[in-house]
Amino acid sequence: TQTKTTQIIEQTEKFGANNYHPLPIVISKAEGVWVEDPEGNRFMDMLSAYSAVNQGHRHPKIIQALKDQADKVTLTSRAFHNDQLGPWYEKICKLTNKQMALPMNTGAEAVETALKAARRWGYDVKGIPDNQAEIIACTGNFHGRTMGAVSLSSDPDYKRGFGPMLPGIKLVPFGDLEALKAAITPNTAAFIIEPIQGEAGINIPPAGFIKAAYDVCKDNKVLFIADEIQAGLGRTGKLFAYEWEGINPDMLILGKALGGGVFPISCVVANSDILGVFNPGSHGSTFGGNPLACAVSIAALDVIIEEKLAERSLELGTYFIEKLKTIENPVIKEVRGRGLFIGVELNKAARPYCEQLKEEGLLCKETHDTVIRFAPPLIITKEEIDWAFERIQKVLS
Ligand code: PLP
Repeated sequence: TQTKTTQIIEQTEKFGANNYHPLPIVISKAEGVWVEDPEGNRFMDMLSAYSAVNQGHRHPKIIQALKDQADKVTLTSRAFHNDQLGPWYEKICKLTNKQMALPMNTGAEAVETALKAARRWGYDVKGIPDNQAEIIACTGNFHGRTMGAVSLSSDPDYKRGFGPMLPGIKLVPFGDLEALKAAITPNTAAFIIEPIQGEAGINIPPAGFIKAAYDVCKDNKVLFIADEIQAGLGRTGKLFAYEWEGINPDMLILGKALGGGVFPISCVVANSDILGVFNPGSHGSTFGGNPLACAVSIAALDVIIEEKLAERSLELGTYFIEKLKTIENPVIKEVRGRGLFIGVELNKAARPYCEQLKEEGLLCKETHDTVIRFAPPLIITKEEIDWAFERIQKVLS
């Protein structure tokens, strides 16, 4: 029988390019950690749009900022100043303890921005010979889908049919310090890393690796770029995942929750010796730094700080991980995570389990075949985690 859900899915599959494999559910409403389909069935969101709705769906403060700003001005382009960009610059710089920021829209665009900044810094500041700059990335990384970002990837599925790739890129195994040391040459401009890999399956590097890698970069005048698009802004139980090892990266890339899941905004922040390499004409974006995005982002950042979402993530994540570790089933290979950034690795395909969890009212998505990711909005309550755990236990026992 044709329901609104089956009708929408059919239409989506008929007219849409086939670049995703969603679970068969249509979401037509959402609030906090809960979403609803057109038939009125409720589900708990355990993905948070890949950490873009850390603040919860439609957080009232963020929605209010969106509405207020929509009544004033939404887009000026950067041909003119707007009255939201200045305050947003100051806010993001103070929060990250950096001197400059450059706003874009999507995560991948911010990654491109960081690559361009690193290359130009390599030539103008480090003195790398023209067109020889090298960037080092990690195997298993996910930095987005644009040409620069897929050129960094080690996944053949991300690259097939899209060549030629960007030259000057080297890959080292995630967490392998010796390989990083060996890969650095006088032409290395930057090392880019997700301090915890998200799409690869919530991979946490060996303890001490981030700090040691940062020190190696410092010793060799190589920029350390942290891609915190998914792991940043409270997700791992710290405001930024790099704080777990007490470093301060040269460049920080943010996106997703920077707009509270309400409006796209991403950015790169760094000190002026790095981001200062840009000059008028060298980089830009029609929508980057638009007043609607800036107003929403200011509210989204306020919510993270005021509601202590990083602290909350640490406390509730620790609680959730401990509970998950009590499930006894040989199919579970490992339970790992930091804060509410949790992966349960199975020794078989995770997709059927995600489909079953959906039947129980829990929306999860498999990542890299065998990992179920649990990453609810950070406003989730302990009682809601208990509710989720009962269902997870049922499906995984
Ligand atoms: N970098 C990381 C670590 C990500 O997780 C993602 C998205 O999942 C991106 C970059 C790309 O962001 P976007 O999809 O907004 O382009």
